[in-house]
Amino acid sequence: MSVVERQEWDVVVIGAGGAGLRAAIEARERGARTAVICKSLFGKAHTVMAEGGIAAAMGNVNSGDNWQVHFRDTMRGGKFLNQWRMAELHAREAPDRVWELETWGALFDRTKDGRISQRNFGGHEYPRLAHVGDRTGLELIRTLQQKIVALQQEDHKETGDYESRLKVFQECTVTRVLKDGGRVCGVFGYERESGRFFVLEAPAVVIATGGIGKSFKVTSNSWEYTGDGHALALLAGAPLLNMEFVQFHPTGMVWPPSVKGILVTESVRGDGGVLRNSEGERFMFDYVPDVFKEKYAESEEEGDRWYEDPDHNRRPPELLPRDEVARAINSEVKAGRGSPHGGVFLDVSTRMPAETIRRRLPSMYHQFKELADVDITAEAMEVGPTCHYVMGGIAVESDTAAARGVPGLFAAGEVAGGMHGSNRLGGNSLSDLLVFGRRAGQHAAAYTAGLSGARPPVDDIEVDTAAAEALRPFSAEGPEPGLEAGRPPENPYTLHQELQQAMNDLVGIIRREGEMEQALEKLSDLRVRARRAGVEGHRQFNPGWHLALDLRNMLLVSECVARAALERTESRGGHTREDHPTMDRDWRRINLLCRLSDPTGGPETWDPVVGQIALTRETTEAIRPDLLALFDKEELVKYLAEEELYE
Ligand code: FAD
Repeated sequence: MSVVERQEWDVVVIGAGGAGLRAAIEARERGARTAVICKSLFGKAHTVMAEGGIAAAMGNVNSGDNWQVHFRDTMRGGKFLNQWRMAELHAREAPDRVWELETWGALFDRTKDGRISQRNFGGHEYPRLAHVGDRTGLELIRTLQQKIVALQQEDHKETGDYESRLKVFQECTVTRVLKDGGRVCGVFGYERESGRFFVLEAPAVVIATGGIGKSFKVTSNSWEYTGDGHALALLAGAPLLNMEFVQFHPTGMVWPPSVKGILVTESVRGDGGVLRNSEGERFMFDYVPDVFKEKYAESEEEGDRWYEDPDHNRRPPELLPRDEVARAINSEVKAGRGSPHGGVFLDVSTRMPAETIRRRLPSMYHQFKELADVDITAEAMEVGPTCHYVMGGIAVESDTAAARGVPGLFAAGEVAGGMHGSNRLGGNSLSDLLVFGRRAGQHAAAYTAGLSGARPPVDDIEVDTAAAEALRPFSAEGPEPGLEAGRPPENPYTLHQELQQAMNDLVGIIRREGEMEQALEKLSDLRVRARRAGVEGHRQFNPGWHLALDLRNMLLVSECVARAALERTESRGGHTREDHPTMDRDWRRINLLCRLSDPTGGPETWDPVVGQIALTRETTEAIRPDLLALFDKEELVKYLAEEELYE
């Protein structure tokens, strides 16, 4: 039996991004002793990288805005596959969450009359993104951290211990959610520096681990985003929803190669930046799909006038939802009209004075100056699509953020599915984190408080199994059951690179049936080899070991993406099939759910040749009539299936 340190908490939150911190604050404020665990340093989550802003219909810049308009935009952006109740709660509650942040000390940019300023973003009808230059995520995280410290100071006054009710375990990775029977009873993890194992016992666990981008080669995501939370939920028995929807942000850096994929914020376009091809054409005017035609300018002149007079002009097509812009860029490059390094040109230099660019887009200015030696106040940037965000995620109950089918498990933020349908609008993630982070914390605390009888215990056998799984990469060499014996260990870095290349090339921005079948074969090969992913040395300071453990998660999640993408024979939002290029109204009624085919085992007992994911279809819940009434019938006809319209 392994000797593993154990602690008891009421609620454990995995992840210290916006969703995790907001959940932790809420749980602690509702009386639950709460632990937060994060893979990197406290404060260095993806949320801190968010640039453009938080979408909330506060109506500060255009009084026409309200939650109903925000709801409509979100549903249109997600092509009506959104879990509508989540989209409703999000649109209604986002303004309160932003105002609340301000009361906790956030300093947003202001309008001339002193209100929180809001900027334009793709797919949002009105200027809606509350922002702090292009460093909004930094301010959001700073504020939430400050709130956590304030709560810890309160606790210190009462108990003499800052961490008595709210404690952050940084640079620790969770590898398993533990269960007793069907219910959650804690988590198993390790400290990244020392490799020491630990168990936090708790009846309620909130997963807030963010995205999956590191399974793709070109991505805006940083090293942590290996789909851990998605995999933890699957392994605990919860289904993942609509994993085929992966957002390729249209504008990542394409040059130099070392920074390929790093994000160029949508604010560049929101503030007037335009996209041009190698022939100098503003090509986006050629790519406005029928469903959006009425809402977008037909000429450059009209598009330009919109920035000054949005009430009498339509917005430029550079501000179409991200999926549309990413596909358009992809087509231009394919047609031979790309920039020298395989992207297109994004220009603000001819649209704003240099001083304004430096003030409104300070991070972009520095990013290009330092990483590419490009002065964006004087020349255009080269940009192209980059894997950015996953709309698919853990299937949750809309109101409570409870993961389906696993009592005690909750999920919020990017790791949760449903909210954004098939495509997320920019700015809707930061608001999602706050709205559903808060709800997850609230319901996790209530769940623990409402338990009658003894708490579910953590079984030693479960702990031993989790420890053995984590130690496997140190003894990878040797015979494989049913496979060739005595083969040498595989290098986890090589496996990771091959996985990223396969996902990028075969399940990327434009998908084809044959290629996705090839991807599934490649995944099978990688799973077989990952059984022998081996590392040398010991548990202290061993990044190769960390990656070997992350591979399990990336392989599981990639299989979900590939299987679901193969199954959905239409194009919608972040899922584009070259062989099924149009949106099919009948598919709007269908969610795809991924579950483990053998929930009792783990990678050490599964046959690695055979896929682990079972895919099922589920009919989506009918949209509530009063919400449908917010749209024109003519618009609904474009999205809803015949029988839904009839209903
Ligand atoms: P994250 O902030 O990603 O945090 C995840 C946490 O989980 C981290 O603390 C990580 O260490 C931890 N974790 C992961 N796995 C484990 C594990 N196994 N064990 C323990 N801890 C773990 N959205 C907007 O709305 N507006 C924007 O302007 C915007 N700009 C963006 C710019 C960039 C460059 C990027 C990459 C994203 C941007 N987004 C934006 C998207 C948005 O930032 C993310 O979707 C959002 O921050 C995700 O927040 P989260 O709380 O779900 O997770």
